[in-house]
Amino acid sequence: MDNCIFCKIIAGDIPSYKIYEDDDVYAFLDATQVTKGHTLIVPKKHFRNIFEMTGDELATVTAKIPELANLIKDKMHADGMNIMSNLEAAAGQSVFHTHIHLVPRYKGDTGVEETFFREKPMADPALLEGIQKEILG
Ligand code: 5GP
Ligand code: ZN
Repeated sequence: MDNCIFCKIIAGDIPSYKIYEDDDVYAFLDATQVTKGHTLIVPKKHFRNIFEMTGDELATVTAKIPELANLIKDKMHADGMNIMSNLEAAAGQSVFHTHIHLVPRYKGDTGVEETFFREKPMADPALLEGIQKEILG
């Protein structure tokens, strides 16, 4: 879809730090890294959000969650993970292409609940590159 930042990322028109890709799904590091390893899983097909998807369409995305969640948890040595999707601006959605947040949690981390719904600074590309290497290496 024109003017959708995630469609452009999937098409390779905007660079991203890819974690996983298949025919239906693309996963990449969130530019803001609420915690280290914060990843977004998106369907390649454009949907505004889960309100607009059928169960089967969503299932192609959620089917990948256990494998990716475990990969990120293991490689980042996380202790847990929050998995969430924000539907519509009222719920904090800011990019209107369905995405599921994987937010690794680390024992003793603080402020994550508060910062998740706030505007966050972009992570340094060098940090993103390092995290991508850690997860895929
Ligand atoms: P939402 O606020 O819609 O639940 O989540 C959108 C997420 O997309 C935010 O966490 C934001 O950091 C991330 N994001 C926005 N633009 C870009 C981008 O150009 N590249 C990447 N990797 N993430 C982005
Ligand atoms: Zn899109």
